Amino acid sequence: MRAVRLESWKSEPLLTEVATPAPGPGEVLVQVGAAGACHSDLHLLHDFEPGVLPWSPPFTLGHENAGWVHTLGPGVRGLEPGQPVAVVGAWGCGRCGRCLAGLENYCEAPASAPVPGGGGGLGLDGGMADFLLVPAARHLVPLPDGLSPVLAAPLTDAGLTPYHAVRRSFGKLSPASTAVVIGVGGLGHLAVQILRATTAAHVIAVDPKETALQLAKSSGADLTLAPGPTLVDEVRAATDGHGADVVLDLVGSDSTLATAAAITRPLGDLTIVGIAGGSLPVSFFGLAYEASVQTTYWGNRSELVELLDLAARGLLSPEITTFPLDEAPEVYAGLAAGDVTGRAVVVPSHDYTP
Ligand SMILES: [Zn+2]
Ligand SMILES: [Zn+2]
Repeated sequence: MRAVRLESWKSEPLLTEVATPAPGPGEVLVQVGAAGACHSDLHLLHDFEPGVLPWSPPFTLGHENAGWVHTLGPGVRGLEPGQPVAVVGAWGCGRCGRCLAGLENYCEAPASAPVPGGGGGLGLDGGMADFLLVPAARHLVPLPDGLSPVLAAPLTDAGLTPYHAVRRSFGKLSPASTAVVIGVGGLGHLAVQILRATTAAHVIAVDPKETALQLAKSSGADLTLAPGPTLVDEVRAATDGHGADVVLDLVGSDSTLATAAAITRPLGDLTIVGIAGGSLPVSFFGLAYEASVQTTYWGNRSELVELLDLAARGLLSPEITTFPLDEAPEVYAGLAAGDVTGRAVVVPSHDYTP
């Protein structure tokens, strides 16, 4: 089968042929219908030295995947070949308290996981291939009627990550509140749609690119702003001087974090989702009183079920551009050049083939 592989750290993705895996006991072979190209893959390709992460190449890229159940390993029940599924991307040990609660992204026994802190496309072979070997049936969520793998795949990360971040702040997102989304790419435009679909908060989106601000508008943002020296004052003016109740920083650079801190109001949430690697000095007078700062990583299985349902009901419409699998290396090049609006999704096959 075809696979788009990361062969070594600090290299470009390679389209190649590998053996089609056969599912062992408890495993499921998924025919991939869609695999999203994530900005975090660019960090994987370009930024890591050997030994920094607890796993290493070679492996097949692609950590946001959906497709059809193809072959069941011995002992797997409750799934049928041809059934459309989304793949929960973080693969934990399956037995610790966090995993039993569905929080495999925060597995507390990573040494017992298939790879520590990873999953398909993150240390193990992912979905940028004709087939994806999923190590346990619990990682598969059947798609609701009417939702295609192409729409579902980006929701497993680009949707699930902001959904988790928004959901944990629901208590602060009253109809009188304001949420600010910093960075309107694959995750950010879905963050705006999720806020719109699940809360009555006012939504402000921030991005330097005009195309991104247009996408934020069409996704439901009330106000779009470009970064710059007047941004903090503009947010204050739009919030009766208060600042924002919830700020989602989907970039995470020094400058976006400084902005986020300056616009978070007392008792607000500042959630760092983006992995640009910036830092935020925390001090008594450096943040609004009782503001909470947190990072989030991905989301959990039950949240993905809720999110897929929202999408099947037509309340989310991910901005997607599809590409054939063979073009995946160029897709990553386009992502690195900032040429992608919304989410780039690679489609290995359009239909289930028994
Ligand atoms: Zn990702
Ligand atoms: Zn675990």
